[in-house]
Amino acid sequence: MAIVSARRVENVVILGSGCAGLTAAIYAARANLEPLVVLGVESGGQLSLTTDVENYPGFPEGIQGPDLIQRMKQQAARFGARFVAGDALAADLSQRPFLLDVEGEAVRTMSLIVCSGASARMLDIPGERRLLGHGVSTCATCDAAFYRDREVVVVGGGDSAMEEALFLTRFAARVHVVHRREHLRASKIMQERSLANPKIRFLWNTHVTEVLGDGEVTGVRLWNHVTDERWDLPADGMFLAIGHVPNTVIFREQLPLDGQGYLVLKEPGRSLTEVEGVFAGGDVHDHVYRQAVTAAGAGCRAAMDAERYLERIGHAPQPAGAPAHER
Ligand code: NAP
Repeated sequence: MAIVSARRVENVVILGSGCAGLTAAIYAARANLEPLVVLGVESGGQLSLTTDVENYPGFPEGIQGPDLIQRMKQQAARFGARFVAGDALAADLSQRPFLLDVEGEAVRTMSLIVCSGASARMLDIPGERRLLGHGVSTCATCDAAFYRDREVVVVGGGDSAMEEALFLTRFAARVHVVHRREHLRASKIMQERSLANPKIRFLWNTHVTEVLGDGEVTGVRLWNHVTDERWDLPADGMFLAIGHVPNTVIFREQLPLDGQGYLVLKEPGRSLTEVEGVFAGGDVHDHVYRQAVTAAGAGCRAAMDAERYLERIGHAPQPAGAPAHER
């Protein structure tokens, strides 16, 4: 039997399979909603791109990001969650049930939980993807502790870059901030703090053009566009902090987004969006905390809100096996 049937109306579809999506799936599955999880392009979300996770509660020895995601997925499957590979390419929230295009298949659903996350912006330079998780990182909070007494590069000139650089100074011997202009975009206070930190060195008007290393990062290739100087800087890690891109393209005309494209929720601390029956959790709306554990909490909230919504509209959970016309 196909997991997705055009005739079937899902109780709840969850977009995304990072911490938020899978936690929503665990809760929705335990509520007998048999959620359908659309795995997304980056199946497993940002955790699947990291190595050791040492700050997720319950794992005193730490756990590998992909292992943690795999366990969450198993846990959701155990209670009846179903998974479909690929991405939602379009959504129509103006009709009910909501209509989704999942890789060309029509999926109809009574409620929707958007946990499609945000992807770290990448430089798209040689070596970057190959060494992701092997010295290239998009999260200093997650990985800084591995760089005790070592030299690292932070790319970017915004608040995130300053925050990452300052956090890294707790561990690293030296932090080189590589910024493409000669003025920082970061807020005044963050600029002052980072400029005053003796462990941070700024490389202005400079671009990273290649990440060097065979298996592990050994350095970066740099280019100063003012002097046209090119050189290699030895380093053990490179942290990207050039912003995130929330995965909200398909909701542009349908749900309120902020200036950066993040979903705007109806009220703080809840998961409700402007469209009744559509809920959200995780990095798709949160650009402040962006942690696995906060995303998990938000996913839980979204599933509980979806369950209450279905109850309120009098929708009894439908078994996955029965096509809609048989109900
Ligand atoms: P951001 O403010 O958009 O800054 C991104 C930085 O990356 C900019 O300096 C930009 O350079 C650089 N950049 C972008 N694309 C690049 C590329 N392809 N190559 C090289 N450099 C590139 O993003 P953010 O720092 O993640 O901050 C996002 C929002 O969250 C901001 O509103 C920020 O204030 C907020 N935030 C606040 C805090 C805090 O208050 N503690 C912490 C983190 C984030 P240009 O400057 O040349 O454009």
